[in-house]
Amino acid sequence: NIRTRFAPSPTGYLHLGGARTALYSWAFARHHGGQFILRIEDTDLERSTPQAVQAILDGMHWLGLDYDEGPFYQMQRMDRYTAMIEKLLAEGHAYPCYCSQDDLHQMREQQRKNGQRMRYDGTWRPEPGKVLPTPPEGVKPVIRFKNPLTGAVSWDDLVKGPISINNEELDDLIIARQDGTPTYNFCVVVDDWEMKITHVIRGDDHINNTPRQINILRAIGGDQPVYGHIPMILGPDGEKLSKRHGAVAVTQYDDEGFLPDAMINYLARLGWSHGDDEIFSRDQLVQWFDSTSLSKSAAQFDPEKLAWVNAHYMKQADPAYLLSETQKRLAQAGHSTESGPALQDVLALVLERASTLVQLRDEAALFYRPVGDVKETLLPMLEEAGVKEALLEFQSALESAEWSHEAISGLIKSTIKAHNLKMPKLAMPLRVLLTGITHTPSIDKVIVLFGREETRRRLAQGLG
Ligand code: GLU
Repeated sequence: NIRTRFAPSPTGYLHLGGARTALYSWAFARHHGGQFILRIEDTDLERSTPQAVQAILDGMHWLGLDYDEGPFYQMQRMDRYTAMIEKLLAEGHAYPCYCSQDDLHQMREQQRKNGQRMRYDGTWRPEPGKVLPTPPEGVKPVIRFKNPLTGAVSWDDLVKGPISINNEELDDLIIARQDGTPTYNFCVVVDDWEMKITHVIRGDDHINNTPRQINILRAIGGDQPVYGHIPMILGPDGEKLSKRHGAVAVTQYDDEGFLPDAMINYLARLGWSHGDDEIFSRDQLVQWFDSTSLSKSAAQFDPEKLAWVNAHYMKQADPAYLLSETQKRLAQAGHSTESGPALQDVLALVLERASTLVQLRDEAALFYRPVGDVKETLLPMLEEAGVKEALLEFQSALESAEWSHEAISGLIKSTIKAHNLKMPKLAMPLRVLLTGITHTPSIDKVIVLFGREETRRRLAQGLG
């Protein structure tokens, strides 16, 4: 039975990298019919915030990454870690170390001078036949893990292939601080073991932790899970992805009108592939997602491609979904759709002009907001020969016109012909009069949608 987890530290929003890690762990579990677990690693009290926890939960929810167990919070599991530390102490896998900061500093200075690698020198490490120093009075020790001195730690990484690290290169890691609180690497091991995680998929910034975690895991008697370390996401300029590259919080993409399905599709492709497929559904992703197609090299974030994927999903989206999303976003922007044309008719007209939900909202808003003061735009247009007359004639002809697309479009054509005008000379001022701007869908369609009464009202308002 396959069990994966996403284990974010709640120190900020859920960024694209974290979301992709969560997605891969989720997709891997779903692909194998296993479980996906959410674990909040909140032991860094100074940097963890409830807002960040909420941002992670919101981001997961928005993306539709459902978990089978959790969220678990490490701060609520402290007794397990302390119990395990006691056990390791009792079994001789861990020991108290009384070195002060000063001692450690001197140790490092000495090693630096001698050109040695900086590491804990084992002063307090018990060995058969070794006499340990006497613990200083009134000093609380840290607890160190007794890392093996010889041999190697090996694993076959899902992404990077076989990796082997000599134990000589590893230190005796601190697993509990002076105040008794367990450290990050230790909690991860206890949790992955207790939660029966079979596949640890995470960012390759954790790859140095893995051999240490495996040693601790062996000491507590756990089986080694499979590890997969995915390369980080780079910005379009090849630098580590950061705020400079635009939005990095997933929920910000929600605010900007991206669809969660598009985001999932895009993130999935950012470091994983299925042949040449660029567009695939969530179901296809789950069906196809195995570890063999994970990319070894860092992926580059490409906002233009994301926009392209999103535009594709906009065109395919369920009309009911677009309707409720736009309704919500219009309301948030202070536009009521109660009077004015039916929103679904508006959407049918403007959908092709929008590649995000925000653009869709802005296009739709034209039909629900007052035109405002357009004199400045309108005046130069009206001053051109024949335009004002043509507009007034069109305005009165509308009163008796049949209200159909064909009839209105015919009326526009006959009016410009009668006044010897080019189409934009009439269409532009009409656009401004009806919507306040010059970039709108085809004006005959706009007029039909507004209906006779609203069109009359708007024309009268601007033309006097
Ligand atoms: N809490 C770690 C982080 O947010 C992840 C730990 C892990 O996946 O093992 O970077």
